[in-house]
Amino acid sequence: MFGIYAPGHEVARLAYFGLYALQHRGQESAGIATCEGGHITTMRDAGLVSQVFDEEKLKALEGDMAIGHVRYSTTGGGSWENAQPVWRDDGRELALAHNGNLTNAVELYNELRSNGIEFRGTSDSEIMAALLSSNDGRYIEDAVADVIPRLEGAYSTVAMTKHAIVAFRDPYGVRPLSLGRLGDRFVVASESCAFDIIGAELLREVHPGEMVSLSERGLEVRQVVRSDRPAFCVFENIYFSRPDSRMDGGVLQQVRGRMGEILHREAPVDADLVISVPDSGNPAANGFARASGIPQDDGLIKNRYVQRTFIQPGQELRKHGLRMKFNPLPEIVAGKRVVVVDDSIVRGNTTRQIVGMLRDAGAIEVHLRISAPAIRHPCHYGIDMSTPQEMIAHDRTVEEVAAELGCDSLGYLSLEGVYEAVGAERETHCDACFTGDYPLERTEAAGGKHALEELVAAPV
Ligand code: SF4
Repeated sequence: MFGIYAPGHEVARLAYFGLYALQHRGQESAGIATCEGGHITTMRDAGLVSQVFDEEKLKALEGDMAIGHVRYSTTGGGSWENAQPVWRDDGRELALAHNGNLTNAVELYNELRSNGIEFRGTSDSEIMAALLSSNDGRYIEDAVADVIPRLEGAYSTVAMTKHAIVAFRDPYGVRPLSLGRLGDRFVVASESCAFDIIGAELLREVHPGEMVSLSERGLEVRQVVRSDRPAFCVFENIYFSRPDSRMDGGVLQQVRGRMGEILHREAPVDADLVISVPDSGNPAANGFARASGIPQDDGLIKNRYVQRTFIQPGQELRKHGLRMKFNPLPEIVAGKRVVVVDDSIVRGNTTRQIVGMLRDAGAIEVHLRISAPAIRHPCHYGIDMSTPQEMIAHDRTVEEVAAELGCDSLGYLSLEGVYEAVGAERETHCDACFTGDYPLERTEAAGGKHALEELVAAPV
């Protein structure tokens, strides 16, 4: 997610490169909306940023401000209608992009429908857009202040009207949102790596429950709701965000390196070689090797043009994606006791195949070390981890998971180890996928990824 107010700059091009840096956050679809002379133009399509946009399309997207989005689906399927930014005009014309997941989407959808509002897609982002577009507050800032208390769940959102860009974050601050500066103009993005690529400077994170407004008046800030219990997603630190992004006050490459060091302290192993599952396991493998003194090398080579498998929906695609993805090097691993470091295991398909490939390549022992606790619970706040039944650690002990994966030993980083590496407190974070403690109220009300589609398809 990206937003920029910068008259005189090529805003669509800046949005394109911002999204290019954020591509890891979603690969199903990409879109940019710009506003020029009071007219909003939106372009979005299925595919990667570089597939959706070309020089000609960017030139057609002129304006003083732009917002953009890369998507993988949480609420609503991956269909074209659900690509973002969404555009609506129910009284106030706007475009909107959202990262997260509303847990009261079905309730709000029903209410809006009964007020005569029609929907094109089945995403919670369109619900948010409809609420803001139909709100009779004079300015978009008033509409946002009015609508935020009605939204439940996780949302980092950017919306653009003819006059301004507003960006706001739910009172828990579950998903990230950063504020930056480009010269005398301002920019927002899900992660600070989007600022680096366009030469902008990171100012700070948008606070939970805060709204920032970018317009001709410069930057305006309003704390809309007080945040009693921040719940930043700790998984952003472990896996989801790019290692060169800054969050929770640190650059994630270093945070993940510390996770690897602590992992060695907590789950040491007698071995000859440390290898990582590239690229996600690299920083933690560095840390593990540093702390253990065991030599490190690249035993698995990744085809860098295949997208990471975690994000492609559907079991079949995931399995297929994996075979294209890694190639083990017998010259490096044969005859060795190998420690394989990765950052997380969700379903275990990838990991099981990696263990098999390394044994086939001649490794005599394969010890798995994971720089996160076991994932046993679904995420209702915007990361698609699918159902508990599909998770390999659900209802299994560590020894049972190790047996399933076919490795000689398995060690996870403890939750305490995660927070030690991040340098933060549990009380200000969400770790529900590890612990089952959901910090947001009424989380169980969430109807799942396809709740709205089921509702739309149901006979009236
Ligand atoms: S459940 Fe896990 S992935 Fe979801 S917000 Fe909480 S920590 Fe992040």
